[in-house]
Order: sequence, then C-alpha cells, then structure tokens
Amino acid sequence: MEQVQINQDDTQLSSTKTIFSLQGKLALITGGGSGIGFDIARCMVQVGATVVITGRREQPLIEATESLGERAYYMVNDVTARELLDGLVNQIESTYGPIDILVNNAGVNMKKPALEVTDEDFDRIVYTNLNSVFSLTRACAQRMMARSCGSIIMISSMAAYYGIDRVVAYAASKSAVEGMVKVLASEFSGNGVRVNAIAPGFIETAMSKTAMGGDPDRFARAMRRTPMGKFGQPEDIGWAAVFLASDAAKYITGVSLPVDGGNSIGF
Ligand code: NDP
Repeated sequence: MEQVQINQDDTQLSSTKTIFSLQGKLALITGGGSGIGFDIARCMVQVGATVVITGRREQPLIEATESLGERAYYMVNDVTARELLDGLVNQIESTYGPIDILVNNAGVNMKKPALEVTDEDFDRIVYTNLNSVFSLTRACAQRMMARSCGSIIMISSMAAYYGIDRVVAYAASKSAVEGMVKVLASEFSGNGVRVNAIAPGFIETAMSKTAMGGDPDRFARAMRRTPMGKFGQPEDIGWAAVFLASDAAKYITGVSLPVDGGNSIGF
C-alpha cells in the first residue's frame, strides 16, 4: 500500500492509493449540488472517485460540478418521481459505468408542531426521505447484488435517535431509514453489498439554518447537549462517507455512525 500524503491542511487527503482511496469507483450522490451532499461529493472526488450528483434544480448542479472538476457529472432528477429511478440508474450505468457507491443524501425537513402537521405535509416529507430512498436503493442494489459488490450509505439524523420537537414527519422518516439499513444489511451483506447510515448532528447548511433561524432557544438547546460545543461542517459528513465507502470499512455493515460532536451522547 502506498503512503498516505497529508498536505498542509491535514484534512486534505491526497493519496492516490490508500486504504481510504475510492479510485476507480463511481458514486451516485443524491442532493449533491449543495450542503452535505456537495461535500460528500467533494471528499469522494478528492480520494479518487468519479461522482454523479443529482437534484431538482439544474443551476446548483452546474456550479457544483464545475467546482468539483473533471470527475464530476450531474443529472437533474427529482427522487420523488419514483417510477423514473430505475431509468436514472440505467442511464448513469450505461453512460459512466457501474455504480459502486450510492449515497442517499437528498432530504427535506419541516418544522411544525405535530398537531398542525397535515396529512399532505407528513406524506411529502416521508415520501422524499423514505419511500424514494427505498426505490432508488432497490434500483441500485439489484445491479450491485448481481455484481456482488457495492456500498450504500443513508443519511439519517439525530431526529432518529432522540425526541426533537416539531419534526414529527422528518423523525419518522429518518427512524424508518435506520430500520431499513438493518434489514438491507442483513439481506445484502453476505453478497458483498454493505449498507450503513451516517447520523449527522447539527451541521451548518441551508437546512439547519432554516431549522435554527430565528429560534435561539433551539440553537442553545442543541449546543448545550453537544460536548464539542459547535456545529459540524458538511465535510465532516463527507469524510465519514469516504470512510464507510472505502475498503477501510470493509467489515462494517448495518451501522448508524453518529457524526455529531458528541450530540447523541451529551447530557
Ligand atoms: P440542504 O437542504 O442544504 O440540501 C438538500 C439537498 O437535497 C439539495 O441539494 C436539494 O437539491 C436536494 N433535494 C431535496 N429534495 C430533493 C428531491 N426531491 N429530489 C432530489 N434532490 C432533492 O440539506 P442538508 O445538506 O442539510 O441535508 C442533506 C441530508 O442530511 C438530508 O438528508 C438531511 O435530512 C440530512 N441531515 C442534515 C442535518 C443538518 O444539520 N444539516 C442534520 C441531520 C441530517 P434541490 O433542491 O435542487 O432538489
């Protein structure tokens, strides 16, 4: 194995071939045009992967792929159009090659007291964060299972770990994703397809700004129970995804990895 080269900023792994390398791998990252998804793509590209990012809006995807460089491509895709997901996977595989890594990152949140959440609200959140995740995962996993290799990563949340008020649909969707990880890992791992989740704590993105914006009490509560006392950065999730997708995690399946500055264990 070649040596890991770490440049001045020691978060910038630039080795060509290490146990963490994703060289020669193709990753599909939903919602990769912004926030956490963008940094997952950035970190994966940095360790050699080729990435295809998706999202509903084209402009952020164009800007993201320009900034990610030549091993980055995009497809405009709404994950809630479930009937189109098999075609999306087909198109990606016939254009760029087999998908080795799927990161189900696209997600939506909504903050409202439970008693005010309508059925439409609830369904919209769950449909994006759960139903669509299942359909895309099945489409990728059918092909990964035929090839006997692959890594599937779900993006969960602290909302699946403990009771955060006013996010009932979001918490339900992420809790269900955690359940799905265990079942899929049981079904797929014997055939070389690993399935894991990352549970981000409070990470600085547009989504967390909306959830915390104008709500200093919520912000203070989140920080009080975070031993590291600060928000995480999207790249903290990016490097965790690199690890889980890499050979360094080859015996890890069915887990939910908190990347949360200790938020899940803070008192
Ligand atoms: P952002 O809102 O910043 O980004 C969400 C991304 O998902 C966007 O690129 C958006 O692109 C895409 N997206 C949303 N809906 C769809 C859809 N129907 N089809 C395709 N793409 C879609 O959120 P974050 O980066 O903060 O969140 C990323 C993931 O991390 C989510 O699953 C979230 O639940 C999870 N998470 C975030 C935390 C945080 O603190 N930020 C904490 C815990 C979990 P577009 O609008 O163009 O479709």
